[in-house]
Amino acid sequence: MPHITMENVSFAYRHGRDVFRSLSFSTGPGLTYVVGENGSGKTTLLRLILGQLKGSGDIIVDGNGDTGRKLGYLPQRFAVPAALTAREFVEYIAWVKGLDREAVRTVAQVSLESVNLSERADDRLAALSGGMIRRVGIAQALATGANLLLLDEPTVGLDPLQRAELRGVLRRIGESRTLLVSTNLMADIDETDTILVLADGQAAFCGQAQEMRKEFGSPGMTLEDVFVAMYRRKFL
Ligand code: ADP
Repeated sequence: MPHITMENVSFAYRHGRDVFRSLSFSTGPGLTYVVGENGSGKTTLLRLILGQLKGSGDIIVDGNGDTGRKLGYLPQRFAVPAALTAREFVEYIAWVKGLDREAVRTVAQVSLESVNLSERADDRLAALSGGMIRRVGIAQALATGANLLLLDEPTVGLDPLQRAELRGVLRRIGESRTLLVSTNLMADIDETDTILVLADGQAAFCGQAQEMRKEFGSPGMTLEDVFVAMYRRKFL
């Protein structure tokens, strides 16, 4: 499972202010939530790891050699072909990746099972809820064999039950892969999850949520309160 390290990464969009100034952190394997205010650079961070954007400094993704890192990316907004069923769509993605017919079937079935969608696999995408479509998006990334998944705010716009379902799916997938998941909902995060907090162009914190609580909060505070307390102490 890949491990992600950034060393002194700086980045600014053309004509824009600095998004990152000497950002350094190390995380993985497993599930890491990337949190921070709107505009703190969550999407930019994922796109730097993806290689869509180039900054200065080093981004090291190590797995089991080159074959050990296959990337899957789920942007905030993505379109799906509404007329296809979930299975047809995921099979199509696996086929494009060059799998043979037999493998395509198996991989699609396993991927849809991993996101708890095997019962809706033969429904058209047009008939699925927003939360299910996000899970189809994750299934298609899994079908490519990715063991490093970058998911950009997958819980936005979902209701509490859909969010809980998705959290369970992410936690399970994270047991055997590396996931970087951006969110601005602290409620998505458990005490034992790893979080990377972006603030002021830097990694304000990277570690287990409960460690952030130990350092900046007190028992009984919500994680969101702890986040605010840390932010105030460090930046205001
Ligand atoms: P987040 O995902 O945390 O909301 P982003 O990574 O989207 O943050 O944005 C970080 C900063 O970079 C913001 O100030 C945003 O306005 C700016 N930004 C994002 N995308 C672009 C772009 N394509 N061109 C110029 N500036 C951008």
